[in-house]
Amino acid sequence: MAQKRKKNNQGNLIMITGVIAVLVLIGIGLYSAFSSIGGGSSNNETKAAYSEISFENQPVYGKEDAPVTIVEFVDFKCPSCKEFHKGIFPQLKKDFIDKGKAKLILVNFPVIEGEDSPRAAMAGEAVFNQNKEAVWKYYEALFDNQDKEFTSEFSVELAKKELPDIDAKKLEQELKENTYASAVSDDQIIGRKLEVQSTPTILINGKEVAFFNYPAIKAAIEEELGSEGDE
Ligand code: CA
Repeated sequence: MAQKRKKNNQGNLIMITGVIAVLVLIGIGLYSAFSSIGGGSSNNETKAAYSEISFENQPVYGKEDAPVTIVEFVDFKCPSCKEFHKGIFPQLKKDFIDKGKAKLILVNFPVIEGEDSPRAAMAGEAVFNQNKEAVWKYYEALFDNQDKEFTSEFSVELAKKELPDIDAKKLEQELKENTYASAVSDDQIIGRKLEVQSTPTILINGKEVAFFNYPAIKAAIEEELGSEGDE
C-alpha cells in the first residue's frame, strides 16, 4: 500500500515537473515574443520612409492640426485590432484626441486569409467616400460584428443599420465592382513601405509602439508633445 502510494507520489511529481517545464517554456516563448515587440519600440526610431508618406485621403479621427499623429494599420477581422479599439482607443481618445493633442489615422492592412478582411476594408473605403465622419461608426460596427462573415450583403446591411443616411445602393454596387480594391492596395503599399508585418501596427509620429501597452503609448505621445504633455 505504502509502496503504491509512493509510486503514485512519484508519478505525480513527474507530472508536476513536466507541467512546470512546459509552463517555463511557454514563459520563455512569451517573454521573447514580447521583448522582440518591445525591442522594436524601444529603439525609438522613426520609420525611414515615414516622411515620404502622404496620409491624404485617409480617415482621420480628431483635429487635423493635432501635433501628434497616430497611425494604425488595421484588419477589421483581426482580434488584436478589436482589442486595441475597445481597450486602448477609448483611453487615447480621452487623454489626447479629445484634447486636440493627437489624431488617429486609419490605414487598411488586411492580413487575414480569405475574402472577409479585404471586403471589410473595401466597404470601409466606400463608406468613407460617402461620409468622412460617419465612417468611424461603421468601423466600430465592424469590430462589434467581427465574428460574422463580412459578405457584401452583410456589409451593406450593417451600413444601412448603423448609418441611415448612407446610399446603400451605391455601396452595394461599389462592392460588386470592387471599386475600392485599388484604395485598399494603395494602403497596403504604404504599410509595406513602413515595414508593417502585422496588425494592429501603431505608429506615433512614425515610431512604432507596442499596441497593447497603453503606458508605453502614452509615454511615447507625451515625449512627442514635449512639455505640452504636462499641461
Ligand atoms: Ca485608406
